[in-house]
Amino acid sequence: MQNPVIVCLDLEGVLVPEIWVNFAIKTDIEELKITTREMPDYDALMTRRLRILDEHGLTLADIQSVIDSMGPMDGAAEFITWLRERVQVIILSDTFYEFALPLMRQLSYPTIFCNQLEIGPTGKIVSYKLRQPNQKKHAVAALKNLNFRVMAAGDAYNDTAMLGEAHAGFFFRPPDHLPKEFPQFPVTQTYAELQEQFRQAGGLRR
Ligand SMILES: [Mg+2]
Repeated sequence: MQNPVIVCLDLEGVLVPEIWVNFAIKTDIEELKITTREMPDYDALMTRRLRILDEHGLTLADIQSVIDSMGPMDGAAEFITWLRERVQVIILSDTFYEFALPLMRQLSYPTIFCNQLEIGPTGKIVSYKLRQPNQKKHAVAALKNLNFRVMAAGDAYNDTAMLGEAHAGFFFRPPDHLPKEFPQFPVTQTYAELQEQFRQAGGLRR
């Protein structure tokens, strides 16, 4: 008999839009459009982002209401429901609980492992804490150690260690260059394609 299946999903780019990029568009704050692509030093990037939020007087509540208005990607809620009717699902994300919350509400609160923000008494974001380096890979390894069969899907560099650690890993709408670098992970472009891959690799019912 096969071990029970757990599916680990990336959040941004798989179920919801890129939070910082869309937040920058929604608030029209040009300097928030910089991401790890332009600024590889994550700590420097986050410190800069928090300074910009402070300069614009944006509190956590302001940010959450903007994120709330983004909503999940088209079809994401139905996809998650389909998946949760068949297997356990855990979202592994490098975002923060406080940012993910409004989007989790719209996805009926799936389980999510991510990071924390430190909020001051006035609601200002004062700092952030990464729970563990390389948490996506460690989570998959831990689940395997608990005798689960683990499948995973993600769209970016920060997912490749998780996809490699899983028994079966898939790209979902990755940038063009990524599958060339990691040809071992099949590419899916729609939720229907991803469902079919999970169905075959995990023996899930239709
Ligand atoms: Mg992503």
